[in-house]
Amino acid sequence: MAKTHNLGYPRIGKNRDLKRSLEAYWNNDIAEQTLNEQVQTLREQHYQTFTHLDFAQAGDFSLYDHVLDTSFLFGNAPARAKRENNNESYLDSYFRIARGRSSKRDCCPTHAGEMTKWFDTNYHYIVPEFSKTTTFKLYADTLLSEVKQLQARGLDVKPVVIGPLTYLYLGKSLDDTNKLDLIDSLLVAYKNLLHTLAENGVKWVQLDEPALVTELNADWLSAYQHAYDTLQNSGVKILLASYFGSLADNLKVVTKLPVDGVHIDATRAKHEVAILAKALNDSQVLSVGIIDGRNIWRTDFTEALTLLNPIAQLKQDKLWLAPSCSLLHCPVDLNAEQNIHPEILPWLAFAEQKLIELEILSKALHTSSQTDQDSVQAALAQNKRAIDQRKQSSLSTNKLVQRALTNIKNEWLHRSDDYATRIAQQQKSLKLPLYPTTTIGSFPQTSQIRKTRQAFIRKEITQQQYEDALKENIAYCIEQQEQVGLDVLVHGEAERNDMVEYFAGHLNGMLTTAYGWVQSYGSRCVKPPIIYGDVSRSNDITVAWTQYAQSLTQKPVKGMLTGPVTILNWSFVRDDQPRSLTTQQIALAVRGEVQALEAAGTGIIQIDEAALREGLPLKQSQWPEYLRWAVDAFKLCSSGVRRDTQIHTHMCYSQFNDILPDIQRMDADVITIETSRSNMKLLDAFNAFNYQNDIGPGVYDIHSPNVPEVESITNLITQAASKIPAQRLWINPDCGLKTRDWAEVRPALTNLVAAAKALRAQ
Ligand code: GLN
Ligand code: ZN
Repeated sequence: MAKTHNLGYPRIGKNRDLKRSLEAYWNNDIAEQTLNEQVQTLREQHYQTFTHLDFAQAGDFSLYDHVLDTSFLFGNAPARAKRENNNESYLDSYFRIARGRSSKRDCCPTHAGEMTKWFDTNYHYIVPEFSKTTTFKLYADTLLSEVKQLQARGLDVKPVVIGPLTYLYLGKSLDDTNKLDLIDSLLVAYKNLLHTLAENGVKWVQLDEPALVTELNADWLSAYQHAYDTLQNSGVKILLASYFGSLADNLKVVTKLPVDGVHIDATRAKHEVAILAKALNDSQVLSVGIIDGRNIWRTDFTEALTLLNPIAQLKQDKLWLAPSCSLLHCPVDLNAEQNIHPEILPWLAFAEQKLIELEILSKALHTSSQTDQDSVQAALAQNKRAIDQRKQSSLSTNKLVQRALTNIKNEWLHRSDDYATRIAQQQKSLKLPLYPTTTIGSFPQTSQIRKTRQAFIRKEITQQQYEDALKENIAYCIEQQEQVGLDVLVHGEAERNDMVEYFAGHLNGMLTTAYGWVQSYGSRCVKPPIIYGDVSRSNDITVAWTQYAQSLTQKPVKGMLTGPVTILNWSFVRDDQPRSLTTQQIALAVRGEVQALEAAGTGIIQIDEAALREGLPLKQSQWPEYLRWAVDAFKLCSSGVRRDTQIHTHMCYSQFNDILPDIQRMDADVITIETSRSNMKLLDAFNAFNYQNDIGPGVYDIHSPNVPEVESITNLITQAASKIPAQRLWINPDCGLKTRDWAEVRPALTNLVAAAKALRAQ
């Protein structure tokens, strides 16, 4: 029978328990021992998920981040993590690197490790740091104790560790060291680890190498050969795990590696499963990642078995089954959801349900007893009913939306005038000063706002009471912005808990969950909505808030929307149509909202595309295709307005040089970006590219509680003005202010306005 195993499981717990424990510990509300006890309870729940699997994975649970764990495992924690104070525990130095520590605490101020996205997911890891002096040394205690805990329960333990090349790939070199130069010393530590695990009774070790789905150059590919040549004969069998995409050109290399098994992502590299099955030798295991670890859809068993049956014939007992990747990227348990439409519920599977699917699939491939047969047949029939019902459901298909898509005209993809004509008209109607000041949209989400929203969700207050509370907040935001003296105001986004959920709740074809949390980093979780059907808009979403805000001031109030690409990238998407098509539907809906705002008298509309860059495919050769439809979607939603309506967009990342032609093609009248930390360096690329439209480079680092001084803001603007003509510059913070307090925001914005005024006077 095909063996079943898992690559990793969510660690936050069903109720974001890990978040609560960590935050209590960081706040000094609980002691380290209590944290350890609470974490142990969570681990026990984690271990429960192994009960029906042939292997129990060790090493996938983490207190903060599994990449940071790997750095500690191989003695590559940054030197600044060293305990200066003997009283400090291992945990403290670990969290110092994970989160940084300010000098306000009594000991060991430290800057945090840089955080970046784990491949194309929304999970963020702490970037390993390398330099010429980097050495590696094995510290296996934590991993070994987990292995032993599991062995004590009689489980066959398969530790999961990031592979050596992916570990190097994920890190950054602090000097000009070529990371590959470190491979030999790193391999000594890996070999040591494998020997140690072998001595402790471990038979299989999974080494994760998702870097193999990216486009690697010859040096990296030969490093793969060298690394796995070195690691063979270390006393354990190695399962090399690739996921998040196809192996493409790297497949040839993978089949030459002396490993005992290879895991492949059968959801994203379906066409490579049979190729790999044939290419591996008879003694090598093929682990097929048949269940989508990146999405929430129920697996289509008929389709899965069609793929698996011939592979099972070929590989016999050398076939293993698993989710495509770690289930870290899925919510924990669908059973917690009470409010999902009963017709849609059977279409879904969260982490817990996915492991049950795995068990059924493995039984379906080979059942010996009659009882098993009967229960498997029943499960297959139930699965088929749900899959068929989803395919035929009127909830997934909306003829009107499909017709609207075919009616899209080419001219809808472009503003009818060029930027120069538009901006002249806009200046006439808006009459803004030089260096206009604005914000990115959100104002502090106070605990009061959050409590009111919770009360509304729990039906403790009425819709009317909730709306009144939000209006009160809008009035307060407007008053504060007037006092500070900003030129373009916003309503403050109090009605949203994040950028996407609010829109998902108001669009047809999308749903939001109650507990569908997924770890984003450390204790932070996000709750991506689910796009289950054709998307459309039936009512205005933001118009009333913006209109209300505008009624309170003479200054222009900017309408605030999330763009189609960001809505797509921060949601669970349909797996039955291309992402590009789904995005186009969302774009059409957002276009409707843009036009409704304009009709209601809004002269400036911002469409945030914070996640446009995030959606870039892992293989660079696929970038142009993605950027084509992503930028088209932005243009579709933003182009249906008059020439004097000003379109803003906002993007909060610090890398533009490789996508500037696409940013230019978006043709927003104004783009606001995050630049305060990079000292305006980012603008060099805009300058070199000769970017045409207005830019608002951030001058206030909203990730820090510090209030920027007038002088530092003036310096930043002066630098910006040396790269971009002053007439095209806007003055604004890096991003939204929702995570900050009013006590910081008020003086910071006062300084921002003062800096702009001083520069205007010059
Ligand atoms: N308008 C959003 C806000 O101000 C933008 C947030 C973002 O770009 N991440 O919060
Ligand atoms: Zn931002």
